[in-house]
Amino acid sequence: MSKRDYYDVLGVGKSAGADEIKKAYRKLAMKYHPDRNPDDRDAEQKFKDLNEAYEVLKDDQKRAAYDRFGHAAFEGGGPGGGGGFHGFGGAGGFADIFDEMFGEFMGGGRRGGGRQSTRGADLRYNMEIALEEAFAGKKTSINVPTSVTCDTCEGSGAKAGTQPKTCGTCGGMGRVRAQQGFFTIERTCPTCGGQGKTIADPCTACGGAGRVRRDKTLEVTIPAGVEDGTRIRLAGEGEAGLRGGPPGDLYIFLSVAPHRLFQRDGANIQCRVPIAMTTAALGGSIEVPSIDGSRAKVTIPAGTQTGTQFRLRGKGMTVLRSSARGDMFIQAVVETPVNLTKRQKELLEEFAKAGGDDSHSPESHGFFKKVKEFFEDLTD
Ligand SMILES: [Zn+2]
Ligand SMILES: [Zn+2]
Repeated sequence: MSKRDYYDVLGVGKSAGADEIKKAYRKLAMKYHPDRNPDDRDAEQKFKDLNEAYEVLKDDQKRAAYDRFGHAAFEGGGPGGGGGFHGFGGAGGFADIFDEMFGEFMGGGRRGGGRQSTRGADLRYNMEIALEEAFAGKKTSINVPTSVTCDTCEGSGAKAGTQPKTCGTCGGMGRVRAQQGFFTIERTCPTCGGQGKTIADPCTACGGAGRVRRDKTLEVTIPAGVEDGTRIRLAGEGEAGLRGGPPGDLYIFLSVAPHRLFQRDGANIQCRVPIAMTTAALGGSIEVPSIDGSRAKVTIPAGTQTGTQFRLRGKGMTVLRSSARGDMFIQAVVETPVNLTKRQKELLEEFAKAGGDDSHSPESHGFFKKVKEFFEDLTD
C-alpha cells in the first residue's frame, strides 16, 4: 500500500508552520467529516488519512521523524486484518497508539520490516565518592545486577540445534493490523509478542528470552577532578538486548560527599581554621592539612583578624582532564579563649589595665567613631 505524503494530504508545504497545519486540518476535517458525508467511502478514507497526517505533523518530534524517514517512521508494514486484535476503547486511543509505535521506533528496535530484536535497557548506578577521591581520581569495580546474552543459545532463544521460526500470525512482521471505525490500528502481534519469530523449543537456560540475569563486574575509572553530579557513561554495559539486540548503556551518577574540613568551590577549596587569640595578636605560624594529604605551613602575621584569608596557590582541587590545580583558601577564625584559669584571668585583666590608645583596636575605633557620628546626625 503506497501512502500519500502527509503534507499533500493536508495541502500544505513542507515548511508550513504549526498554525498553518492546524488551519488546513480544521478546514479539511470539516469538509470530510463523516457526519457531513454519510455513506461516502471516499470521504471516510480522506478523513482517516487527514487525521493520520495531522497526528504526525502537529507533533514536532513525530514530524521530524517523518521528515527524515517518511512513512517508514511509523509503519510496521505487516499485512492487514490479522487476528488477535482486542480492540481499544475511549477517546484519544489513536494518539496513544501512535505514541506507542513511535516509542518503539525511537528505541531503534525496528525499521520497515519485522522486529526481531530489542535494544537492552540503560542502567543507572549511583555512586558516592569522597572529596579526596574526586581530587585524586579512582579506579574501582562495581557489581551490576543485569541481563547478559545467554551463552547457551547465543541470544537466539532457541534450544541448541533448533532455529526460531517465522511467526505464522504476523508473517514475521511482529505487528498485526485491524480496522476500528475509521482507523487502521496496528498492534504488537499477540502470537510472537512482536518478535516476528516463534520458538518451538525454547532454550532451557534462558527460557527463550536470549538473555539471562547475572551480576556483572565492571571496572570503572573515575577521572581526577570530577564534580558532584558528574555522569559517566559506559557504552554497551547496560542490559543485554532481547534476542541478540544491541545492549543499553550504563550510566554512573556520581555524588561527592561533604568533607569534614574542606568545602569545595569549583577548583578551589575553602577551609576555616581557628587561630588562637594570642597567635592572631602576636603573629606566628600554623599548620593546615591539604586535600592531597600533605601539610602546609601558613604564616600568620601579627594583628590577624577573623575573616582574613590566606591563599595557598596550587593546593586546591585537580582540574578535570588537566594537570592544573586550583587554590586553597584559609579563612582565619580568631578564637576567644574560654574556661580561663585564675592566672590567665589575672594576665588578661592586667593586659586590659595596661590600656593604650585606640590604635590597638582599629576596628572598634572606627566603629565607635561611626556610632558617635550617627547620634550626632540624629540630633542635628
Ligand atoms: Zn538461551
Ligand atoms: Zn507474530
